[in-house]
Amino acid sequence: MTDQAALVDLGQRHLYPNYQQSPFVLCRGQGSQLWDVQGKRYLDLCAGIAVNTLGHAHPRLVAAICEQAAKLIHVSNYFYNEPNLELAARLTEMSGYSRVFFCNSGTEAIEMSLKLARKHFTAKTNPDRYRIIAFSNSFHGRTLGALAVTGQEKYRDGFGPLAGVTHVPYGDVEAVRAQMGADVAGILVEPIQGEGGIITAPEGFLRSLRRIADEQGALLLADEVQTGVGRTGRFFACEHSGVVPDIVALAKGLGGGFPIGAVLCTEALALALPPGSHGTTFGGNPLASRAALAVLQVLDEEKLVAASQIKGAWLGQLLTELAARFPGQIAATRGLGLLWAVELDPSVDVNLVLQQCKNAGLLLTRAGSHALRFSPALTVLPSELEEGVQLLGKVLEAIVSCGIC
Ligand SMILES: *Cc1c(COP(=O)(O)O)cnc(C)c1O
Repeated sequence: MTDQAALVDLGQRHLYPNYQQSPFVLCRGQGSQLWDVQGKRYLDLCAGIAVNTLGHAHPRLVAAICEQAAKLIHVSNYFYNEPNLELAARLTEMSGYSRVFFCNSGTEAIEMSLKLARKHFTAKTNPDRYRIIAFSNSFHGRTLGALAVTGQEKYRDGFGPLAGVTHVPYGDVEAVRAQMGADVAGILVEPIQGEGGIITAPEGFLRSLRRIADEQGALLLADEVQTGVGRTGRFFACEHSGVVPDIVALAKGLGGGFPIGAVLCTEALALALPPGSHGTTFGGNPLASRAALAVLQVLDEEKLVAASQIKGAWLGQLLTELAARFPGQIAATRGLGLLWAVELDPSVDVNLVLQQCKNAGLLLTRAGSHALRFSPALTVLPSELEEGVQLLGKVLEAIVSCGIC
């Protein structure tokens, strides 16, 4: 048997210590189940932070990656490749956008979106129109550009100066209006704040942002890195409010675990970044493109976006029932589709709960300062959602009965 402790020791000695990783090593997955090297089974309701759209080892995704790897992995953007062209056609066709740019992560998709918004105006000799309105409690990624728009001090601390962005409270239309000006290139918004704690936008908020942007000639940029690709029961979360942004950033769930990001935009923005002005070596490579194509095909064939809505409603009901059983431990539940938060009472130690869940064989992540996040694969079984909520119930019961926590 593999010596798990020895492996963990390698990580502790050699990995850059910017993460707090659990002391076990995962080696195999199937659907919403994972196993560590000692053979312990975990129910995976985080899906790699809303990434493994099709669960682990989905045969269609595995076959697509294997076949493509045997054919062509990378050629650079000096040349076209078939999977990339097919993916571009499919994504634009299904979304109604006319253009797509491919990159490798969420932060890169945001970076490109910001550069696109700025250059759109500066290319039209409007060099003073660069400011971005973003929101408090948002998360947009870790590069300096994406960090500049991220509205949480814990991510920004020590990395400044981060200029050119004004943060206003999420949901506050009047505050947005007050901060608009002729120098604003765009408003960047998450339709649901993911890392911030699964905070849904108040009714009408996105529509108001669309209206304000239009009135002032600015762009509306949506960060759908976490909410996109069917996670909330529509392909884009913005669809719930009938809003069409000028620019949409995708990543996390798009490749089903294979790294890929994408930026979709309208034809009006197609001339902003001419050849040479932006690019990435790996972006749009055949292997990543083929993986994303497989995800979109399976999403369609297995009707997973509708499934996300149905199973998400079921998860919401299970969590509401759980909250009723633990009024002292659960302060609130909220979410949409298969993206849910269980906000714990301030008296409960979130990390302890996550730790005990892992011990019990349930993998969840944290969102915001005091919430547990459920972001399972869209292929998750209703019975697995039930099992997960039951396991969390047992953990909370133990915490209540021990009385210390
Ligand atoms: C995860 C995330 C990002 C950053 O994506 P990376 O792939 O980690 O760079 C950006 N925006 C949102 C909303 C996210 O959830």
